[in-house]
Amino acid sequence: ATFKHLGVKHEFIQGLKELGIKHPSEIQEKAIPVLLQSKTDFIGLAQTGTGKTAAFGLPMLQNIEPNSNYVQALILAPTRELVQQIKKQLFKFTKYCDAKIFVEGVYGGEKIDIQIQNLKRTTHIIVATPGRLNDLLDRKVIDIRKVNTVILDEADEMLSMGFKEALTKILTHTPKSKNTWLFSATIPSGIQQIIDQYMSPKAVRV
Ligand code: AMP
Repeated sequence: ATFKHLGVKHEFIQGLKELGIKHPSEIQEKAIPVLLQSKTDFIGLAQTGTGKTAAFGLPMLQNIEPNSNYVQALILAPTRELVQQIKKQLFKFTKYCDAKIFVEGVYGGEKIDIQIQNLKRTTHIIVATPGRLNDLLDRKVIDIRKVNTVILDEADEMLSMGFKEALTKILTHTPKSKNTWLFSATIPSGIQQIIDQYMSPKAVRV
């Protein structure tokens, strides 16, 4: 299959081409059509380096309404480095989009005042580590009450790093109607608990 067959819009395919991404990877073939065509919770078993950022990123971006000025999608990732990588990839995917999609990165080790300032600008997508996001939620400078999609990237790593409490706290700030897309290399019992408590029993698993 091609990205076009999977339902990816032309403008994103242009951006992919420039990154040297021509043929969908296995996880992209499995995830993209499902995530584009149905409003569903989703569990993707995938290691790093398999192209999972595009697997969730493209359907997420294609769902964003650039003219609606609120946080529509939230991506949680275990480390500052991964947050920055995801943000960079999303930026490149959207290079040929007519309307600008604004992505903000939120992570520890950076001055919180600067992040607070940045979040006052239009933000459609937040990519965050759980600890810092929680901090910003406590300060009431982030509003995630209207997100449509929450993506948990490298969920098993987030648990290993002790983010379970932060993660569940964040999920309680999001609407019930959202869809949760969980990506993980493994499903240890802590992840299974999150799936059971916070995700639909009808979640698609690939
Ligand atoms: P990820 O697993 O999302 O961290 O992606 C790992 C690397 O593979 C990134 O540098 C991507 O740009 C690249 N990549 C993602 N999808 C593909 C693809 N279908 N073909 C070739 N490279 C890809």
